[in-house]
Amino acid sequence: MVQKQDTPRARTRRVMVGNVPVGGGAPVSVQSMCTTHTDDASATLEQIDRLAKAGCEIIRVAVPNKDALPGFAEICASSPLPVVADIHFDHELAIGAAQRGAAALRVNPGNIGSFDRVDAIIDEAGSAGIPIRIGVNAGSLDTAVAERQDLTLPQKLVASCEAFVRHFEERGFGDIVLSAKAHSVPVTIETYRMLSQSLPDYPLHVGVTEAGTLRQGTVKNCAAVGVLLEEGIGDTMRLSLTADPVEEVDVAWELLAALGMRRLRPELVSCPTCGRTQVNLIGMAEEVERRLRDVRSPISVAVMGCVVNGPGEARDADIGIACGKGRGLIFVGGEPLRRVEEEHLVDELFEEIGRRFC
Ligand code: SF4
Repeated sequence: MVQKQDTPRARTRRVMVGNVPVGGGAPVSVQSMCTTHTDDASATLEQIDRLAKAGCEIIRVAVPNKDALPGFAEICASSPLPVVADIHFDHELAIGAAQRGAAALRVNPGNIGSFDRVDAIIDEAGSAGIPIRIGVNAGSLDTAVAERQDLTLPQKLVASCEAFVRHFEERGFGDIVLSAKAHSVPVTIETYRMLSQSLPDYPLHVGVTEAGTLRQGTVKNCAAVGVLLEEGIGDTMRLSLTADPVEEVDVAWELLAALGMRRLRPELVSCPTCGRTQVNLIGMAEEVERRLRDVRSPISVAVMGCVVNGPGEARDADIGIACGKGRGLIFVGGEPLRRVEEEHLVDELFEEIGRRFC
């Protein structure tokens, strides 16, 4: 799959989060955040392992207090993914995390307390050679900006980012990723459009924050991030959901695949069923989807409810089935392969997938 050229994404500078390039036209990377307690390194590493298997490329963990630092060091030493330390309020935690193997720091300079403390973080990240994500949130804006009546919320978020970036640049630090998150889809879209205009050099970490549980959060994230990615805005993403973080990674990959940007796993093409359907197509599609989780090649697989329209409508699928009454047709590249009894249809489909694509 091809990344569009000459987009805002192609024009940002590239920073490295561990071995993952972010910005400068690099493929949009998928991030998530652990929900485990960082002082429980083994539970956290177990979750990171599950996330890595799901396709997560960068992982963030909270470092809420000093007690979390030994666990954080252990996690960094054994994690298969680059680990970003999420820091609030205490600059010493950021410094401690940078010294213990963080691949990047995420801070909101507005809640660190003073620019002296922010400078200590900047200098430590500079010595460690790691980037900093400046993460501004609608819910935790710097008071001076938050109280300005003359600015809209997107303008406030962008003004915050601009002020922080200016300060980092004056300190000689440019290894920056920016995020400015809100829970509203229109605010998120407008903010990131403005950010990509006003600070076009810096890679953007996109996502909707506090987006909600699986269904609502998926819709909100895909509505906002889908629009932005299609406009070429956004270099890395975390789609936050109140759910198992593996869901965030799955949704992120589904979104990238739906936009034709990156595909990690197979795509299921299935018809909505109608009055012509004579099998339990929903059950069949769900079974195919479940079994496709074990298939690694990024093929497209169709499950269609009738032989009349099925293969034609799913002509561009790599392989598929079109169901009739009591039997169905396996087709490959839009061409019929053979007819199979309904009860063997899914098994034989997967035999063909194994033979041809795995
Ligand atoms: S593929 Fe056939 S069964 Fe499925 S929606 Fe279209 S016409 Fe109906």
